[in-house]
Amino acid sequence: MGGDRMSTTCRFCRSSSGDFVLDLGRQPSSELFPKDADPGSDPTYPLRMWLCNDCRLAQLGELGPKKSVRTSQVWPSRAETQGRNVLHARSTAQRQRT
Ligand SMILES: [Zn+2]
Repeated sequence: MGGDRMSTTCRFCRSSSGDFVLDLGRQPSSELFPKDADPGSDPTYPLRMWLCNDCRLAQLGELGPKKSVRTSQVWPSRAETQGRNVLHARSTAQRQRT
């Protein structure tokens, strides 16, 4: 681990200077949800963290094939989750008082 200098480009500053600092081996994609009728082993991809030497951003070294990464997913915005979190926190606080 560490010291591995594969060709990777930082997604933030575009630097190619960095090191792999964590290697979790090959893992199935967290974006893959096979159908029940699709038995069999899930494809695995390298799961490694790469640390940029210039901006210090830690990021995945490889993303695997594009089909294994769901990019069209609509995630709730931060404002939406903050609003829900505030409501949840208020509700929890109310329950604690009673
Ligand atoms: Zn960088």
